[in-house]
Formats: sequence, C-alpha cells, structure tokens
Amino acid sequence: MTDVTAMTATQIAGLVAAGETSAVEVTQAHLDRIAAVDGQIGAFLHVDTEGALAAARAVDVRRAAGEELGPLAGVPVAVKDVLTTKGVPTTVGSKILEGWRPPYDSTIVQRLRAAGTVMLGKTNMDEFAMGSSTEYSAYGASRNPWDTDRIPGGSGGGSAAALAAYEAPLAIGSDTGGSIRQPGAVTGTVGAKPTYGGTSRYGLVAFSSSLDTPGPCARTVLDAALLHAAIGGHDPRDSTSVPAPVPDVVAAAKLGATGDLSGVRLGIVTEFGGEGAEPGVMTAFNEAVDALTKLGAEIVEISCPHFQYALPAYYLIAPSECSSNLARFDGVRFGLRVGDDGNRSLEEVMSLTREAGFGPEVKRRIMLGTYALSSGYYDAYYGQAQKVRTLITRDFTAAFERVDALISPTTPFVAFPLGARTSDPYQMYLADLFTIPSNLYGGPGISVPCGLSDGLPVGLQVMAPTMADDRMYRVAAALESAVGTLTPPAL
Ligand code: GLN
Repeated sequence: MTDVTAMTATQIAGLVAAGETSAVEVTQAHLDRIAAVDGQIGAFLHVDTEGALAAARAVDVRRAAGEELGPLAGVPVAVKDVLTTKGVPTTVGSKILEGWRPPYDSTIVQRLRAAGTVMLGKTNMDEFAMGSSTEYSAYGASRNPWDTDRIPGGSGGGSAAALAAYEAPLAIGSDTGGSIRQPGAVTGTVGAKPTYGGTSRYGLVAFSSSLDTPGPCARTVLDAALLHAAIGGHDPRDSTSVPAPVPDVVAAAKLGATGDLSGVRLGIVTEFGGEGAEPGVMTAFNEAVDALTKLGAEIVEISCPHFQYALPAYYLIAPSECSSNLARFDGVRFGLRVGDDGNRSLEEVMSLTREAGFGPEVKRRIMLGTYALSSGYYDAYYGQAQKVRTLITRDFTAAFERVDALISPTTPFVAFPLGARTSDPYQMYLADLFTIPSNLYGGPGISVPCGLSDGLPVGLQVMAPTMADDRMYRVAAALESAVGTLTPPAL
C-alpha cells in the first residue's frame, strides 16, 4: 500500500485540487496496487488501464486550466460489472454476456465521469447479482482481504474487496436484497443502499426491477455520502426515478462525525432479536448500541411483526421479476449464441444458449419465478408475497412514527469460508435476513463497521424512511466517530 492508496477519497480529492498530486499519479498508484494484490483477491473482472489514465489526464488538464473541480475529481472508483460502460466489457458475472461491450454508459457511470472520478475497471459479482458470496460468478469467486479463504460477501463482493484491499477508495454496488450492505459488513467497509428510485437504474442490468438500487461503497461514511451525492438524483430515463433532489447526505455525514446524537431516537427491531445472528455478531452489535447511547441516542425496542416473512416474500418477488427480465438473454441480441449452425430452429438455439450461458443459481431463480407467476399459482405465491410486502411497508411506516431510524446487525454472520454455503441455497439466502426488509419497503439502509468478531468485521445497519437517506448517514458517521475504521491485518 503506498501513501495515496491508504487515503480516503476526501483526502485524495483535496490533494488533487491543491495540486499536491496529480490525478494521473493517484490513478497509477491504484493500478500498481491492483497489479500487486488482485491476483490474491480477484476483485476485478476487467481493469481499464488506458481508459483510467485517459480520464485522469483529462482531470489534470482541467485543473491546469484553472477549472473548478468537484469534490471527487481525480478519485479512482471501481464499478460493479452490473452497470453498462460504453465500450468496456460488461458481463454481470455471467457467461451469457461474455464479450459484450455496451454501446452506452449507464446514468451512474455518466455521472461518475461528470464528477471527474476515474473508473479503474469492473468488479466481480455473483451472476446477475444473485448471491451473497460472489461464488456464483461465472468467472470465479473473489476473496476477502481479511482472510483470503473466506468470502467477501455478495453479490457485490468484488467492489467491497477492492475497497478493503486498498485497490480503490470508492466503488459502486447495486442492492436488491442486500448486495451493497452485506459485502460492506463482512469486509469492514461502508455500503449504502439509497432510497429506491433515488439512484438511476438506467443502464443497470435488471435483476428485480422493483427492488434494484445502485449505490455507493467506500471506506468511510463521508466518502460514501460524497459518492451518493455525485451519482444520485432524478433521471428522466428511469421511469421509477424519484423526481426530487438527493437529501443532503454530505452535511448529515459531517454532522454525525461531530459525535452528537442527542435527540435522535433509534429503534431495535424485536423480531431480529439475536436468534438469527451469531453470538459474536450480537456482542459487537450490542457494544455498538452502547456506543450510540453514549453519543446521546435514545434506544427503544420496536416490534415489526411482518419482518419474519420478508425472506420468503423476497424469494418469490425477486425470482418472479428475474424470470421476466432475463427472458431478453436469448442468444439473439447480446453476447453468447450456441448451436446456430443453420439446421436448428430459433427455439433450439435460444434453449441451447440459455442452457450454456446461465449458471445453476440463475436457472433456479428463473424456474422458481416462472412457477410463481404461472396461471393457477400466481395468487398463491406472487400475489401473496406482494401482500406481505405491503404489510412490511406498514411495519416500517408505523415504526418511523416512533423513531428516527432502525438499527440492526447488517448480516447474521461474519464472512464464512469459501464453499461453506454453496451446496445449500437456503443457507446462502439467510445472509440477507436483516437487509431484505428495507428493499421490500424501498427505504434506504447503510452498513457501517461496528467491531470485530474473532478477528472478522461486523457491520451495523441503519435503516431510515424513504427519502430520509440523510438520517442514516448521520447515525452511521456518529458510530464511525466512536468505533473508527477497520483495516485488514495482512494489508
Ligand atoms: N443475496 C440476495 C440474492 O441473492 C441479494 C442480491 C442483491 O442484492 N443483488 O438475491
């Protein structure tokens, strides 16, 4: 790790703006770091060396010309391979999109470029963002910098591992059921899921459109807030984008960093109570609750009786939407095509392509979703799950009449060994027990490091009402001021 790779995004941007270093130097240091460590970590699927250096040179030219630069100009960022990048491979961790170079940038990537950040490359992920460990990536698993025999979480494990291994100070993830927050928790980094519709889905390869939410990943709460502010806000190209400005998450993070939470009421969800979480996770969480109390927060217990049905509801709604969204990967329009020898029917080619192009977890979800939506079963499964979703939303609404935000462990267990849960999908699904409710509701959630259990990071989740993303940043920054940031011992 060289000095610049150990810095926060805020520090790097300050040095670039002051002319004390150049964006090219910063970028080269991170490219060197990737070359040195990514063989052990596997965070990146594609490193865009030329593109990154060109973007960095452009920032340096603008600075030399005296242009006012934004608060993240010259800062490198790693982008989850779920977002389209013009001319740069986008695989979504799947063989079915191998070799696809999209003809356009997603809105998030456009905004990253406009902010003067420097995209280093694309990060590894579970195929189509389905998973909690990156082991379902068609290109091999990423590894956790805290212990390379363990998973870095998923689906955005590549982005989180890149941060924890100091390969990038900022990264982008997407969160459908926890894929930003859970990798953040198990790698000791910060991951925020914005309010649904607060960040644009234009150019985000769709998994479950009513849940998918791109968002920021960083090593500090303030860096995550700066990234959130840079990528968020209304986008006319996304019909579910919220037509309102991003709440002032940066000011909230700065306020939180003063370490004063007096007057803030935080709720602990009774139904999450310990039972689903490892003892070491609960110990770290309870210590964090004490720390929050010392900072002035008032803690109350809140019952959210329908949260216990969130996981089953999610595993009907998300696969249903996925079975529809993934119908477009048919071997005709994008990427892979198998068996097109002139003698086969279109249906045969589609079937062979999908058979060869999708991995087992994606196939499982497509089959589950197709079944849940099929005539005769629709009301019993998909319809019922939508009703549960409404009840969960009501639980949140009632809770937020009593408290400003809810807190919980982010995930029931610390990073598990590679291979430990791949043979039992249900064990893998449990990783998102605490993160899924806020996806079903649509409100924001953030994971911030709260301590260690047996030397591995534990995350605390803060959940806030929709469009009150600023509240969760305030609480997370306050906790960070008490707990500090975490650095893997080996690095
Ligand atoms: N792990 C969850 C799943 O497998 C969540 C994924 C996500 O948020 N993209 O569906």
